[in-house]
Amino acid sequence: MNLVPDSIQQVISEISRLPGYGEKTAQRLAVNLLKMPKGEAVDLVRHLALMLDKVHLCRECGIFTEKEICDVCSDESRDRSVICVVEESFDAFMIENTDKYNGLYHVLGGRLSPLEGIGPEKLNIKSLIDRIKKLNVKEIIFATNPTVEGEATANYIHNLIKNYPITISRLAYGLPFGGILENADDFTLAKALENKQILK
Ligand SMILES: [Zn+2]
Repeated sequence: MNLVPDSIQQVISEISRLPGYGEKTAQRLAVNLLKMPKGEAVDLVRHLALMLDKVHLCRECGIFTEKEICDVCSDESRDRSVICVVEESFDAFMIENTDKYNGLYHVLGGRLSPLEGIGPEKLNIKSLIDRIKKLNVKEIIFATNPTVEGEATANYIHNLIKNYPITISRLAYGLPFGGILENADDFTLAKALENKQILK
């Protein structure tokens, strides 16, 4: 006999559709929610709904924002000739926290991963090329994660843009290989940005 109440099973099925969340993790999350004081749990769900309603991607750079155009893209004092290419919005948020960067960002929305079926068409690569053509871009800094997939993604885009008259650089390996940008501390990230290497 299956004793799992339908409403719980439904939540578990929904959560386990998220990448990286298996059935067991989804179960744990559902149980933890049910164990929370009801008011707090309802508050959490309300905030989730609010986030889904308010947050979308910046029309220019693809970063998470509550505005049509994000604070970086709409800031006239930013250096529009430099674009830092990251996998996810939170990578850009981390770099921004270092206060060492004054250019623009471009969020790919992931990295190439043939195993997970993520090809170039699933990433915001075309819009990056469009921006390079449209803006007077002089430098592209790849700040994809120092992982095999992150490297492959940077190399793929590098090949597409290497004939443009721009400087192409990559964050230096002050970052641990196999690590995740989001987990790096401010100092390591600032150093890596300072020591970026020119690729072309
Ligand atoms: Zn933007």
